[in-house]
Amino acid sequence: MKNIYGCSLEDLEEYFLGIGSKKFHAMQLFSWLYEKRIESYEEVTNIKKEVMDLLEKEYSIERLKIVDIQRDSDVCKYLFELLDGEHIEAVLMRHDYGNSICISSQVGCNMGCKFCESGRRKKVRNLETYEMVLQLLMIEKELGERISHVVVMGIGEPFDNYDNLIKFFQIINHPKGLAIGARHITVSTCGLIPKIEEFSRFPLQINLAISLHAPNNTLRDQIMPINRVYPLEKLIPTIKRYLEKTNRRVTFEYILLKDINDTEKCALELAKLVGDINCYINLIPYNETNNLEFKRTNTVQIMKFYDILKKNHINVTIRREFGGNISAACGQLRSKKEEL
Ligand code: SAH
Repeated sequence: MKNIYGCSLEDLEEYFLGIGSKKFHAMQLFSWLYEKRIESYEEVTNIKKEVMDLLEKEYSIERLKIVDIQRDSDVCKYLFELLDGEHIEAVLMRHDYGNSICISSQVGCNMGCKFCESGRRKKVRNLETYEMVLQLLMIEKELGERISHVVVMGIGEPFDNYDNLIKFFQIINHPKGLAIGARHITVSTCGLIPKIEEFSRFPLQINLAISLHAPNNTLRDQIMPINRVYPLEKLIPTIKRYLEKTNRRVTFEYILLKDINDTEKCALELAKLVGDINCYINLIPYNETNNLEFKRTNTVQIMKFYDILKKNHINVTIRREFGGNISAACGQLRSKKEEL
């Protein structure tokens, strides 16, 4: 059975017309779901019972389960149980500009980045659209406050689940849905070129982040296997075309791994690689995990790296760190309950 939280407004319009009912019921139902936040179809009062009975046979309104919440000062990590018993995590971050959540897009991940804990479990399946929407809806309910920003940077490679992701964006961006402005939504990819190209034709002004993490192929091949499929000499021109087409902003994420990609030589090489691209570089202090192969770059070296980029006129920021205490930081999310 399908789930109602995976339907865009257009899907519902099509559904109601398809059963010989009225198109405007779609808007009414959308408003019940996302403005009034009903949790059972019985609360719907302005659509005939026969119509609702038909709908109920086709679309479940069942939610996920939040089975654990870990709280730190300005971050909360939620462990969700999906309807098939799988688990994923999402993280809420409280910023001075609002509440932001980091959601997962897959159970496990197949990209195999060497430094990432989330990817240690191979992809089990894509998340359905409703499973992404419900991460947001349910955290908002638990929090009792509006969530204003969404980043798709949790477990999984979102562009490896492209169609479900796009529908998720359409639902959360819709003014009668969760009304989250496109500029408040960011999706991060390890660089799946065909999907970056497809995304350049998607009309919403959603921010794109690229996990770059290395300034040359030799290094990138070593830590991100996807680079052997989509190497830098193809990725960089794709991003340039994306920028020309969309005028949106691109961020490059760059984790600093001690003695691997954090040298002054790497910083210069990086500045050269992205020098003529209108972008931001977001330096991410590496969050150490059980994987002992990688170490965190010390603060002095991080600042050196930062200064070199600055001197070369690159827009660069250092990511504010969240959630390290409760393993809720980048690359630490997991999709298995018992490993927590
Ligand atoms: N698959 C997508 C979405 C995941 S985003 C992508 O690769 O972009 C999660 C971000 O956190 C990515 O930039 C990832 O490379 C980074 N990350 C992974 N492990 C990390 C760690 N241990 N410390 C800091 N950042 C990490």
